[in-house]
Amino acid sequence: MLNAQALGQLLLMQSIVISLPDEKSMFSFVCRGLRDLPGVSEVRYVDASQEQTDKASIRIPLLIGEISRGELWFTLTDPDAFAPYLDYLKNFCFMLAVILEERRQRQQNKLFQSQLEGRIQERTRQLQEEIAERKLIETSLRESEGRFRTLVENLPVKVFIKDRHSVYVECNPSYAMDLGVRPEEMRGKTDYDYYPKEMADKYRADDKRIMESGRGEEIEEEHIKDGQSYCVQTIKTPLVDEARQVTGILGVFWDITKRKMAEELLRKAKEEAETANKAKSEFLNNIAHDFRTPMQAIMGFSEFFRSEQLTERQKKYAKIINEKSKDLLLLVEDLLDASRLEKGRVKLRSTAFDPKKSVRDIVEMAQIDIADKGLRLICLIDEHIPRLKGDEIRLNQIVTNLLGNAVKYTDSGEVTVRIDWQAQEPVRDKGRLLISVKDTGLGIAGDKLGDIFEAFTRFHEFAGGRERGGVGLGLYIVKTLVDLMGGTITVASEIGVGSEFVVTLDLEVA
Ligand code: ADP
Repeated sequence: MLNAQALGQLLLMQSIVISLPDEKSMFSFVCRGLRDLPGVSEVRYVDASQEQTDKASIRIPLLIGEISRGELWFTLTDPDAFAPYLDYLKNFCFMLAVILEERRQRQQNKLFQSQLEGRIQERTRQLQEEIAERKLIETSLRESEGRFRTLVENLPVKVFIKDRHSVYVECNPSYAMDLGVRPEEMRGKTDYDYYPKEMADKYRADDKRIMESGRGEEIEEEHIKDGQSYCVQTIKTPLVDEARQVTGILGVFWDITKRKMAEELLRKAKEEAETANKAKSEFLNNIAHDFRTPMQAIMGFSEFFRSEQLTERQKKYAKIINEKSKDLLLLVEDLLDASRLEKGRVKLRSTAFDPKKSVRDIVEMAQIDIADKGLRLICLIDEHIPRLKGDEIRLNQIVTNLLGNAVKYTDSGEVTVRIDWQAQEPVRDKGRLLISVKDTGLGIAGDKLGDIFEAFTRFHEFAGGRERGGVGLGLYIVKTLVDLMGGTITVASEIGVGSEFVVTLDLEVA
């Protein structure tokens, strides 16, 4: 028998359940209500995921189609009294399942919506940031463009941009002013509108070549301003777009007339100096020749007088005449040599010789000459130096001159001559000969070092209160000979400390 009160309670529960806020309060309400049904002692809600035990008398699933939303477990005291309510309860449970499903759907929707909202908010924020950033870039771009434009507009150099067909797109006021127009007027014009045909032809050919090669060029060329032609230096650079396609050409040019004039003046001055030098060396050459013969005669006679019956005093004078004549003759020889070198008339010879012996002989000779000077002469020779091929006489001249200077400009201490050999690996038939002449003498001031190899430069003629001879040709001859042999000469020197001259020569083994 169905109890009307019990059925009424079921209906009432059905209408209340919908309005309960959450699942927990829903099921505690339902379980409590269903416990009042006839024959029921206990009702529990069991979640679908919960472990199942077999304690219940009856289990009614909360099913919507295939989806289970858990079960209601009934513990019965009187199954017969309960039996008539089973169908109602199944309906009741279906209704509960629908409510649960609907709530879950709604919750999911809410979650989804809030997620969506979150994403929209995030994207909006990103967009706003992007916009702000772009604005910043635009502003700084505008500013930098403004700065660049001001710069280009105020530059004294001429700047222009042409398109792929050499049509002017833009130019700065400085250039437009030269052509007597405003910058905007240049737009759409070509060089043919402003220059004679041949000039425009040349500019166009240059543009074409540069755009085709894609490589910028520096060009010295002619331009016209106020009908006057003048010389300019132009830099033309191809312009390319993002796809590296050439879109036109950027040109910058400036007046170099003054520079050109200065260069021309310099060239003329050099030419004049060379002519003057030539005349000078020609003159010296002639004079030297004229000097030589009478000098030799004087020397001969002074020798002759020394052997005659003369007073001591007369003998002394004859000796002085002889020595001074020797000096003079050496000078004359130097002059003639320098003049021949200058004219390129000196030919180097190549014979086999032993550099060790050559240098040793020179140093020994010098030893005799300076016996009374109180200088120590040191000779360091690398014994591994092989016999070499070259111009022995000219090499000796180089060493003699450097050693002569070292002795001449050193009053105390020592003079060291050193020669070394560096064989060229792995072929040992060539190598480098190093000659160093080092002294502890007067030294040369730093600002003079650059000049000492020039002809007729000398600095210590009367240093230390005595005359030191020379006309400043020695180092000039040395340098010219070293150059002729394809070698190098360097000098390191300090006033009051001393000097070192180093010559290197690449020579073949004999
Ligand atoms: P000079 O005939 O005057 O010796 P050089 O051409 O041989 O001419 O040398 C030029 C000048 O360089 C000399 O006048 C001298 O002032 C300086 N000089 C050359 N060698 C030395 C040296 N070893 N020590 C100091 N000064 C030197």
